[in-house]
Amino acid sequence: ECEEAKAKGAAPAKTKDGTEIMVMGNIGNPSDAHRVAEYGAEGAGLFRTEFLFQDRDQEPDENEQFESYVEAAKAMNGNPVIIRTLDIGGDKPVKYLDTPVEDNPFLGERGVRFCMARPELFRTQLRALLRAASEENIWIMFPMISGVEELNNVLAFQDEVRKGLMAEGIKIIDKVKTGIMIEVPSAVAEAEKLGAICDFFSIGTNDLTQYVMAADRGNKAVAEICDSLNPAVLRMIKMTCDAAKTTGIEVGMCGELAGNSKASALLLGLGLNELSMSGPSIPEVKEAIRAVSMNDCHALAEKALAANSGDEVRELL
Ligand code: PEP
Ligand code: MG
Repeated sequence: ECEEAKAKGAAPAKTKDGTEIMVMGNIGNPSDAHRVAEYGAEGAGLFRTEFLFQDRDQEPDENEQFESYVEAAKAMNGNPVIIRTLDIGGDKPVKYLDTPVEDNPFLGERGVRFCMARPELFRTQLRALLRAASEENIWIMFPMISGVEELNNVLAFQDEVRKGLMAEGIKIIDKVKTGIMIEVPSAVAEAEKLGAICDFFSIGTNDLTQYVMAADRGNKAVAEICDSLNPAVLRMIKMTCDAAKTTGIEVGMCGELAGNSKASALLLGLGLNELSMSGPSIPEVKEAIRAVSMNDCHALAEKALAANSGDEVRELL
């Protein structure tokens, strides 16, 4: 059965009318990269680098990080690997990083907020990433971006790190593809401005849903409200895709919703052209994409946006 799944995964994900969708894998370390490639991943749409930092006594140094990033990219045979900078904070404590104790960790110092407040930590990771991206097909992605000024500050810091490397005589390519997670509602509202200053978006439906619905993604008591298929969340996804189209950048999704094969047609209809998920979901999602045409996807998206609840959307799917 596993062999059958892998055969399904190997063929490209092209709709009946010929639209090609990139189906990629979510990874947490280089060996995951080998695993998702076996399922047919056309690259990695999300490398969660926090896994390289967790369950150890000290942070990985620049060279160790560099080796991990290069190894993950090599497993993808030239397909892109989108590496997200450290997304850590009060909800995922790490002893040696002195993560803060906060009343509301999901609303606190996490993602780029945490890294910008710790420039040595961030500089080390960006040095490793810029070096690796100069050798392999690696794109850099920033988590938890909440607005234009914040992204400008992060990009300025990245540029300072690049200049530092160049001053040391280390060759860094001119333009490393750099994008952002769209997972904070304010970033959706500002998506056209953000799209004008970065190279791609990747929608994180796990956080976007909890922030749009004001329902903790880990709290069972509000699990029904924290529903990625709620039309309000779908509207935010549509707005993000529209802004990406207007600004001419690529837009993908790397949250859990991307791996739900029942939702694939809907996601295509909302405007996504790349989906990233865990390895075992890849074959089913590719199969679902091959079974639909874009006209049907657009009609489905219209209906879903007009629905009154996540359950109504599930009925449509
Ligand atoms: C998300 O928020 O949807 C996401 C992909 O990131 P994480 O689950 O790591 O927060
Ligand atoms: Mg997230």
